[in-house]
Order: sequence, then structure tokens, then C-alpha cells
Amino acid sequence: MLELKMNTPMNLLVIEDEKKIANLINKGLREQGYNVDVVHSGDVGFEKATSQPYDAIILDIMLPGRDGLSLLRALRERNISTPVMILTARGDVNEKVEGLNAGADDYMAKPFSMDELVARLRALVRRVTGESISLYKAGELSMNLVSREVTRGNRKIELTAREFRLLEYLMRAPNQVLTRTQIIERVWEYHFDPGTNLVDVYIQRLRRKVDDGEELKMIQTIRGVGYSIVSK
Ligand code: CA
Repeated sequence: MLELKMNTPMNLLVIEDEKKIANLINKGLREQGYNVDVVHSGDVGFEKATSQPYDAIILDIMLPGRDGLSLLRALRERNISTPVMILTARGDVNEKVEGLNAGADDYMAKPFSMDELVARLRALVRRVTGESISLYKAGELSMNLVSREVTRGNRKIELTAREFRLLEYLMRAPNQVLTRTQIIERVWEYHFDPGTNLVDVYIQRLRRKVDDGEELKMIQTIRGVGYSIVSK
């Protein structure tokens, strides 16, 4: 079953009192194009979670005010079924079990990588809501992540696997500037600067396929910063 959904950003609530971790999660999720609300206490988190709809909640367990587990139980008692990912202390099996018993949908043990958190969140939302974001659109450019078909208007665009991945990364966050470092990390999974113009070379290839012969150049270079795909 294929359900198409436009890339309306997901709204996520992060309840985490450790500011450093909260900021990291916030930054990582925003880079993926999500809308993120961050709060640092259980009480404020509960108020937020009960007053507006979120697509998912990332919930730390040890929190000032209402702790994560009682917050989660209170949500479930109110029949609020928003998918919840709990953050547990490393190797704490009790937290994990209690969390799942309290109604969590998944858990991540600290420390974790942002890539894994994002992947697990996507899977969680998909599993719980039955929805999957399988179509990215930016202006007249669309990319189907299931059939892997890419079109601009009526024109079909053939991409290599790496070009597809690069375009997918750009399309996740239209009109946002992605730096070369971000692109290298996400598309090539290099956590160092390979000191080459790899990204530029692939951007040129994409540009030829996406923008050549078109009046509107969608793939833009922001000099000295990085690249962006413009959706209008
Ligand atoms: Ca904490």
C-alpha cells in the first residue's frame, strides 16, 4: 500500500532538561526539515503535549518537575496516542522496560547518533500512523522515494544512486542552505573533510540533469556557504 504524502514537515516535541542534548536534537531535527519545540521540564512538556497535536514526542525520563514516565502515563490515560520515543540512560534496562510499559513506542539509549534518532523516529511515525512520506516536492520537481522516480514537470530525470541521495537530502529541506560539511556527512557519510570538490562535482551533475534548459535554476549555490534547492 502506497500512501503519498507531501513533505509537510512533522511537528516534534522534545522534552529534555539537559540543554546540550536538547540543542543537539533540536539542531539535528531542524536540519532534516522538521518543526521542533523544545522544553526543559516535565510540567511544561505535559502542558505542550496536551494542548497541541504533535507527530511525535522525544521524551527524557529524568526530568525536573514531572518525570518522563509519569508524564507518559498521564498522556496515555488521557488517550493521547502521540508516538513517544523515550531517551534512556545507557544500559538501564529498567528504564527501557518501564518506559515501554508506560506506553512508549520506542526508546534510544544515550548517547546516540542523530542519524539513528532520525531514522528511528521516521520508522516510529510510519509504524504508528501508517503514513509514510514517500513523495518529496519542491516546485515542479518531485521525487518518489518508493518508485525512485524523479520528475521535473513532465520530464523524467534519471539519477545515479548517489545523485538521488544528494537530491533527496536537498529536497528534505527546500529553501534551506545545506553546507558542504552537512552534505558530505549525510550523503557520503564521511565525518571528515575529504579535501576534494566531491560535493561541487555532484552538484554540477545534478544541475545538468535538473536545471539545464530550464528558466528557473532550482539548485542554487550560496557562495561560501553551501547549496539550496529553491521551491519557487
Ligand atoms: Ca534528564
